[in-house]
Amino acid sequence: MKQRLAILGSTGSIGVQTLDIARENPDRFEVRILTANRNWEKLARQAREFDADTVVIADKSCYEPLCKALEGTDTKIYAGEEAVAQVAAGGDSDVVVNALVGYAGLAPTVAAIEARKKIALANKESLVVGGACVMPLARERRAPVIPIDSEHSAIFQCLIGERAPVRRLIITCSGGAFRDLKREELQYVSVEQALHHPQWNMGAKITIDSSTLVNKGFEVIEAHWLFGTPPERISVVMHPQSIVHSMVEFEDGAIKAQLGSPDMRTPISFALMFPDRAKRPGPVFSFTEHPQLTFAEVDHEKYPALGIAYECLRRGGTAACTMNAANEVAVAAFLARKCPWLDIVRTIEHALEKASFVARPSLDDFARADAEARRLAAEFLHVRVPEEAVKG
Ligand code: NDP
Repeated sequence: MKQRLAILGSTGSIGVQTLDIARENPDRFEVRILTANRNWEKLARQAREFDADTVVIADKSCYEPLCKALEGTDTKIYAGEEAVAQVAAGGDSDVVVNALVGYAGLAPTVAAIEARKKIALANKESLVVGGACVMPLARERRAPVIPIDSEHSAIFQCLIGERAPVRRLIITCSGGAFRDLKREELQYVSVEQALHHPQWNMGAKITIDSSTLVNKGFEVIEAHWLFGTPPERISVVMHPQSIVHSMVEFEDGAIKAQLGSPDMRTPISFALMFPDRAKRPGPVFSFTEHPQLTFAEVDHEKYPALGIAYECLRRGGTAACTMNAANEVAVAAFLARKCPWLDIVRTIEHALEKASFVARPSLDDFARADAEARRLAAEFLHVRVPEEAVKG
């Protein structure tokens, strides 16, 4: 029987690559639900190609042009962020691919889990912010959460068939756009430079997060919630070639790694087809073309964000939620050329210092912490953020 897919964020980098997998496997997948934030033209093209049952555009101002673009089709059309969560929980899909970016992904993740859907999760912010609520809920509802993030997919693959406790998860890190720059040179880096990732072609926000290593910090938090591993048993190692996607070390000293060319369609197809694997086109991997796989320590003075993320994980409560929200505001400001790159981490530090802290938060507490951190970040950077985002 075909799996019916709901792809949240279908117009983004992960969304588009998920549709590649669906296109390659028409006998296995039926694309039922697609969503976007503002890109109604691309959403309409996708809906026509895959004959989607339902589309949602989160930004209500794009509803009318989307309706016009889909005239003559049977596709149902909805608008608004609440509608994204509603279709994630709706009865019309078996698998929800959460490829949204940022805090906006949390509510649809929770809604899909409540509805006992299988979730293929790219939206790491769902776990960074709300892992303490999301994972217990997933266990209670027996909703499988399969990671799409390449590092977590690698760890997931290494853990298959293992029963013994792990000694350590080893997350690899390419080092992002500025890995070859000295600390002093980071003061003047431009948006264009930061958006140029040496290995991966991804959405703008995660590319900036990779340049600051906020992304790597978030991956440590994500690994903690997915695999139940305490922070002291999760380490990060620089690996500029991005061939080893991550590793697991066991108590007997054995280490399992998952390797391959950097291509997000591998972990996406794995999340969709597990326990099977996709038959994907492309050349076989050549070790002789990659004779050097190198590893190095992270420079924590150059990249303070990684240590901050560990600290947030150790503190628990709303700390990582505060870090995430401040980062989202600062990354948007940097991309809009309203602050220098170094201000991203300064903003996170400021918000963490000033924000209130809830040790055992509910989902409502996370919403309040998110709004407070956005307010603090906006004040610090002297930028404006949408009013509804700071209401909580
Ligand atoms: P993109 O920015 O490329 O795409 C994000 C998608 O979400 C788009 O469809 C966008 O719509 C939609 N969207 C954005 N904001 C909202 C909102 N407020 N409400 C509803 N929809 C929204 O992101 P990526 O695909 O790069 O990343 C998605 C997630 O996957 C992130 O959490 C990222 O960290 C994670 N990830 C990504 C990887 C990659 O290779 N790209 C690798 C590993 C993890 P629109 O097009 O209209 O703006």
